[in-house]
Amino acid sequence: MAAELEAEVPAFDRGLLECSAEEIAAKWLQASELQKEVYQHLAYYVPKIYCRGPNPAPQREDMLAQHVLLGPMEWYLCGEDPAFGFPKLEQANKPSHLCGRVFKVGEPTYSCRDCAVDPTCVLCMECFLGSIHREHRYRMTTSGGGGFCDCGDTEAWKEGPYCQKHELNTSETAEEEDPLVHLPEDMVARAYNIFAITFKYAVDILTWEKENELPGLEMIEKNDTYYCMLFNDEVHTYEQVIYTLQKAVNCTQKEAIGFATTVDRDGRRSVRYGDFQYCDQAKSVIVRNTSRQTKPLKVQVMHSSIVAHQSFGLKLLTWLGSVIGYSDGLRRILCQVGLQEGPDGENSSLVDKLMLYDSKLWKGARNVYHQLFMSSLLMDLKYKKLFAIRFARNYERLQSDFMKDDHDREFSIADLSIQIFTVPSLARMLITEENLMTTIIKTFMDHLRHRDIQGRFQFERYTALQAFKFRRVQSLILDLKYVLISKPTEWSEDLRHKFLEGFDAFLELLKCMQGMDPITRQVGQHIEMEPEWEAAFTLQMKLTLVISMMQDWCALDEKVLIEAYKKCLTVLMQCHSGFTDGEQPIVLSMCGHSVETIRYCVSQEKVSIHLPVSRLLAGLHVLLSKTEVAYKFPELLPLSELSPPMLIEHPLRCLVLCAQVHAGMWRRNGFSLVNQIYYYHNVKCRREMFDKDIVMLQTGVSMMDPNHFLMIMLSRFELYQIFSTPDYGKRFSTENTNKDVVQQNNTLIEEMLYLIIMIVGERFSPGIGQVNATDEIKREIIHQLSIRPMAHSELVKALPEDENRETGMESVIEEVACFKKPGLTGRGLYELKPECTKNFNLYFYHFSRAEQSKAEEAQRKLKRQNREDTALPPPALPPFCPLFASLINILQSDVMLCIMGTILQWAVEHNGYAWSESMLQRVLHLIGMALQEEKQHLENLSEENVVTFTFTQKISRPGEAPNNSPSILAMLETLQNAPHLEVHKDMIRWILKTFNTIKKLRESSSTSPVAETEGNVMEESSRDKDKAERKRKAEIARLRREKIMAQMSEMQRHFINENKELFQQTLEELDTSASGVHDNSPVISDAKLTALGPEQTRVAEHRQVVMCILCQEEQEVKVDSRAMVLAAFIQRSTVLSKNRNRIIPDPEKYDPLFMHPDLSCGTHTGSCGHIMHAHCWQRYFDAVQAKEQRRQQRLRVHTSYDVENGEFLCPLCECLSNTVIPLLPPPRVLFNRLDFSGQPNLSQWIKTISLQMKARYLLRDEDHSSNSSEKMDQLQLPEGFRPDYKPKNPYSESIKEMLTTFGTATYKVGLKVHPNEEDPRVPIMCWGSCAYTIQTIERILADEDKPLFGHLPCRQDDCLKSLTRFAAAHWTVSSLSAVQGHFCTLLASLVPNEKNENLPCILDIDMFHLLVSLVLSFPAIHCQDFSGVSLGTGDLHLFHLVTMAHIIQILLTSSTEENGMDQEDTSSEEEVAVLTLYKFLCQCTGSALKEVSSGWHLWRNLKAGIMPFLRCSALFFHYLNGVPAPSELQVNGANQFERLCSYLSLPNNLTCLFQENSEILNTLVESWCSSNEVKRYLEGKRHAISYARESNKLIDLPDDYSCLINQASNFSCPKSGGDKSRAPTLCLVCGTMLCSQSYCCQTELEGEDVGACTAHTYTCGSGVGIFLRVRECQVLFLAGKTKGCFYPPPYLDDYGETDQGLRRGNPLHLCKERFKKIQKLWQQHSITEEIGHAQEANQTLVGIDWQHL
Ligand SMILES: [Zn+2]
Ligand SMILES: [Zn+2]
Ligand SMILES: [Zn+2]
Ligand SMILES: [Zn+2]
Ligand SMILES: [Zn+2]
Ligand SMILES: [Zn+2]
Ligand SMILES: [Zn+2]
Repeated sequence: MAAELEAEVPAFDRGLLECSAEEIAAKWLQASELQKEVYQHLAYYVPKIYCRGPNPAPQREDMLAQHVLLGPMEWYLCGEDPAFGFPKLEQANKPSHLCGRVFKVGEPTYSCRDCAVDPTCVLCMECFLGSIHREHRYRMTTSGGGGFCDCGDTEAWKEGPYCQKHELNTSETAEEEDPLVHLPEDMVARAYNIFAITFKYAVDILTWEKENELPGLEMIEKNDTYYCMLFNDEVHTYEQVIYTLQKAVNCTQKEAIGFATTVDRDGRRSVRYGDFQYCDQAKSVIVRNTSRQTKPLKVQVMHSSIVAHQSFGLKLLTWLGSVIGYSDGLRRILCQVGLQEGPDGENSSLVDKLMLYDSKLWKGARNVYHQLFMSSLLMDLKYKKLFAIRFARNYERLQSDFMKDDHDREFSIADLSIQIFTVPSLARMLITEENLMTTIIKTFMDHLRHRDIQGRFQFERYTALQAFKFRRVQSLILDLKYVLISKPTEWSEDLRHKFLEGFDAFLELLKCMQGMDPITRQVGQHIEMEPEWEAAFTLQMKLTLVISMMQDWCALDEKVLIEAYKKCLTVLMQCHSGFTDGEQPIVLSMCGHSVETIRYCVSQEKVSIHLPVSRLLAGLHVLLSKTEVAYKFPELLPLSELSPPMLIEHPLRCLVLCAQVHAGMWRRNGFSLVNQIYYYHNVKCRREMFDKDIVMLQTGVSMMDPNHFLMIMLSRFELYQIFSTPDYGKRFSTENTNKDVVQQNNTLIEEMLYLIIMIVGERFSPGIGQVNATDEIKREIIHQLSIRPMAHSELVKALPEDENRETGMESVIEEVACFKKPGLTGRGLYELKPECTKNFNLYFYHFSRAEQSKAEEAQRKLKRQNREDTALPPPALPPFCPLFASLINILQSDVMLCIMGTILQWAVEHNGYAWSESMLQRVLHLIGMALQEEKQHLENLSEENVVTFTFTQKISRPGEAPNNSPSILAMLETLQNAPHLEVHKDMIRWILKTFNTIKKLRESSSTSPVAETEGNVMEESSRDKDKAERKRKAEIARLRREKIMAQMSEMQRHFINENKELFQQTLEELDTSASGVHDNSPVISDAKLTALGPEQTRVAEHRQVVMCILCQEEQEVKVDSRAMVLAAFIQRSTVLSKNRNRIIPDPEKYDPLFMHPDLSCGTHTGSCGHIMHAHCWQRYFDAVQAKEQRRQQRLRVHTSYDVENGEFLCPLCECLSNTVIPLLPPPRVLFNRLDFSGQPNLSQWIKTISLQMKARYLLRDEDHSSNSSEKMDQLQLPEGFRPDYKPKNPYSESIKEMLTTFGTATYKVGLKVHPNEEDPRVPIMCWGSCAYTIQTIERILADEDKPLFGHLPCRQDDCLKSLTRFAAAHWTVSSLSAVQGHFCTLLASLVPNEKNENLPCILDIDMFHLLVSLVLSFPAIHCQDFSGVSLGTGDLHLFHLVTMAHIIQILLTSSTEENGMDQEDTSSEEEVAVLTLYKFLCQCTGSALKEVSSGWHLWRNLKAGIMPFLRCSALFFHYLNGVPAPSELQVNGANQFERLCSYLSLPNNLTCLFQENSEILNTLVESWCSSNEVKRYLEGKRHAISYARESNKLIDLPDDYSCLINQASNFSCPKSGGDKSRAPTLCLVCGTMLCSQSYCCQTELEGEDVGACTAHTYTCGSGVGIFLRVRECQVLFLAGKTKGCFYPPPYLDDYGETDQGLRRGNPLHLCKERFKKIQKLWQQHSITEEIGHAQEANQTLVGIDWQHL
């Protein structure tokens, strides 16, 4: 039964078509119970249309559904023919001013960084192009699908909310006008009816759960037909599903892939159709097979009727979406119907039902109804609000459903939050009316239930499922962010109230984080398991922006700020209630100060990095200062409750922890701690972690006695003893202490000093210092650029982003940096302006240690370059805000002075103590800061102020008894001359100088006399004078030097400009080879140079001595010596192809003798130009092979080269190679008998050759048949022809071997066959490769407008020379008769004989290939000719003959459009001649050729058409015969054509060739023209290549990258019916768009599954491909199945950077130079080489499955 069912082709029920929509609608109009009528109709027809067989038939179903089901509804709705009704509706409708276009996956979207209210506000491409934002700073992204265009939404844009198109629709918008007034009343009623029925039907059937019943419908068909429905989940992989299906339902792999693809896309697919049992059986197999490791795949056996109704339900929803598109009124009705509460009260509306059922629906169904919501509820302003309320009320439930659901968020209704919450008015409304903030936070907390005893979050023992849930729950933070993103401009009491309620909830959340993941120092043993830390940090990281936004909100309203501050403080006190509990109180005293605190050691007790409550309070405290609330309403603030020691305690512990980790005290705690410390400082977290801890210390210290603070700090750093006990430090003298402890203490002291520097110096946040936000960002940039010049993206990464993903950098960058444009590689860079270096602070708090030392080095170097001293004194700082003003007193506090004095003392007595230079450097920096501070105070002194900062006085005072230590100043003076402190000398000098400046200031203002210091003032000033003089001299010297340098570089530039080409050449030469081969042919300047023929210029032979790169031995290249070889790479190529569809059908049978002029597949040979001994290479290759075998046995790793295929890397330059070419002396010399008396002319020569060929045929026949002795008699052997003669091979064994090696390689690669050196096609492939390679090089030179000779890089020159000579010598190692045979066949294509038939006509032969093959096979015949005809004569005749054939080819195919261009009146000799020839051709073709009256165009066409051939021939004969190129051909100049003709022994008037040889040529031309193919061509029945062939280029790319994105988004996968491709990839060679990296488009190639790109390369590029991955903005190079690499795209943003992966979204434009570079790589056949280099440089590239792309 089952099998029958499957085979049955569902019959087409013709009766269905007889239904009349109009009649049914009429019946419905009369019906009293419409719902019943409609339901009956559906119950009857739906199962007749849908689900009639195993596979859906969407087209037929759609057609029938429209006719039978939707048609009546449309008639009913319109009350007339919908074909008239709908257009009427559309006309009456006022077009919406909202765009609302729903984005497809991959569609480009645009956001304006200047005007968008938040980054989620986006425009579609069309709207963007018509908007003002085009000219603004915009960002471009590709949509992930879902979401819609915000054009027209005034809440989304600060400016320009409408594009031009939607602007038109805003006229006379009567706000809040009811759209229903535009609809006729009866239609309103009908719409209500039909919408209510259909919408309910769809919702009921989609949410239906029973298996054998229908909601309110009768089961008409009770057949036993079921589906086994497979559902999508995100747990199982494609492979698992495919494998399981093959087993369970017995399908092919292909079918299984199809099922899996559909399941993945739509969310479900029936995999079996039949009776219940049959389906149930499949179900159990699937469940059994997938339940072993994970939860089983979801499978359900469903009755076909249910599936049918569900299919139609979805269709209905889509239909509703399109119907409401006709009219705003209909849309409103549908919204009303959807939101109308049902009989069951709360949550019973259709919309609620769908939402709440969301997580149980399959993907496809969700997509459909989400789309409907977007085009209805979200497009209607009134109902958007009502829907938002429904959504908010259901929020908790929807989120919980989403947590349980395993689908990605983009497929969940929860994802609609972005559409609702980001609308400022809605968000505000939901906060005040639905208490949304609190709801979100509470929901979030509900899902994080794991807590420790103190109630803090605990992530430690998370199961995989909990971790999964944790990832999902994070999306709630995103919702919170959306709600907060637009800040209120006005506060209502309600809003205040609800915000503060939300703030309370938020504090509860932070409270659960305060102190989480506490750690204890591990002593003795290493920790056993790294503790979990990432979850806590993820949470912190995600919350960072929310915390910042909370503060921003608070800053906007004084009342809110005050309340929030109070609440935060209360919570903090709860967290640390009685923080001294159980901790012992102690008293610290130093320098006459004492303070009470507790005993606490970070190194022994628990400490946590997570202190969000403290940090939030720190942030709010700064706001009190910034908004001046602290001064305006001090009475409202709980300032008296603040306990500074309590505030600073935990942040201080955290900072001490960092210091101790740095000092190596926490090594045993493993990497998790190191990571945590890293993120604590990282740009992603620091704003709400590290930065706020510093602020908290500043806050605390500003409220307490600095001496007290310093003592507590010393105690927490565990350094109190060292500084409070005189001479305590001596204990740590180097000899008798544990080095580790000394080191540790030194680091801790350094860290503590650094912390003091930060507390006093970091005042660039508005509210702390008197600065604004731009000052802060400028300072960040200055310090980043102090390290080194940076690209835009690097800077962006180093700066914190706000909730709008902005750093604020662009507004200030111009002030602090200059932009340097990028070159052909690299990227544009920002350089710090010189005047900004004075703001450099070596102890900038956001430097990592590595950055700090790099910056120090860079800044010192800069100073040295400018011939300044190398001191890096602290910069002058902005003043503190009043709330923090007392902070500076730390610098002059007694304890601080004591610390400074102690350390200086150590440095003075440098042998007695353990100390470090870094320590001293920091003390000097602190002293410098204090001096700067005092100086500024004095400079800004106003009358009434008293200077309270008297640092200079204090450091001038010597220490008191009992120490009697010298004053700090005195110690500095001592240190100034200390030899061991050379590095710090400049800094000390700067300090002393500043000290004196201050003293002078004080004297001049004479406020308070400075204590006299031991008379060193005089000394000081005279020293100053000396120094000034020295400086002046140095300055003069510097200027002089600079001037000279400038002159020199100017001259240099001149020189380079004048000799640009020379320079370029030298560079290229340097770049290419270490080879000893140079073209050392003598310059024969005066004589006319001729490359071939009897007139060939004789060149004295030169010894050619080369060096082997492997053994470094030199050797001469000679015929009889050991072979020298060049590393070479042979590849198939389609670079010159004019027909990418042609592929070699069966390589085993393919005859490559004639190359078609479309050059569809050539064999290219390239070389890096590196020379080796053949035997050295052999040994090297054997070693590579052996190594590879061993490696493959050990571990299955791939290399960038395929040894089994003969590939290796050049030992010198690592260039990919697959064979070697032997180096040879000019081969013609060996066989050419140079006797030029009485040489035959062309006709005579052809006759002789024909006779020789004939003789050869007879002799060959004789071999096979015995009775040919009589034939022998018939045959008169031509004079001097000795067919039995076997020439002796002149080459050494080793050269012969290499000739065979390279020949076989060419054959193997070129034809893609197994190597067979005996195959007669081997020589053909060698000649072909020679011809093809010359053609490619000729094209490159022509495209670059370079002269033919003298401009090739050495490696190409060497390669062509060796390749030509090799090809010419190869016949000596092949079968003589085979080569002779080839020659005969080749010649027969031009000189017909009766033996060779069915040869291609001259339209189908590439003449240059023919020439090369003829010339190179000719010696095989000629060697048996002893008649005295020279080889050169033959060459010349062959060349002339082919040239003439080519002329005829050109004349036949040229489309001589007489386009009325100017032509001279008098016709030249050439024009007359070519016209005559053309007329003759007309005769031969029976007047099928177009009539041409003037020779002018003909001659022009001929000259242009034949140029490439002549240029190739010149290269060929140049390399073959070694005749140097005339100097005129080494430059671009006039008369190139004449020069070429002369070099090639051709008359300038090419048609003379025909006249000279008219006796034979007339016959030949006639025979060429008589070919059937030529006739068919002339009759227009076939196509032929015309000349000159244009060079192939890569496709044209648009300037704006978004055009490509758009193009790609419109592209759908060609295999899976209109589905959007996930990785659309553009072939840059032919412009085809492909669906890459996806199962749907995998095909089989040579027995392996390959992706669309790899498959495409096989036809388009002979295995090599260049693609642009559009979504990734990345160029992809592929070669073969295993090789590939990514390459930077030719698109740059305004900052000169590429954006691979499109992460930044800056507008991208085509960089023509870079694209040219890629094109050149392609034309030069360097793609494979480039891949090789990339893979060698980056091994991970080797592991990628390129073939699946
Ligand atoms: Zn739009
Ligand atoms: Zn628009
Ligand atoms: Zn804008
Ligand atoms: Zn060697
Ligand atoms: Zn090399
Ligand atoms: Zn596809
Ligand atoms: Zn292509």
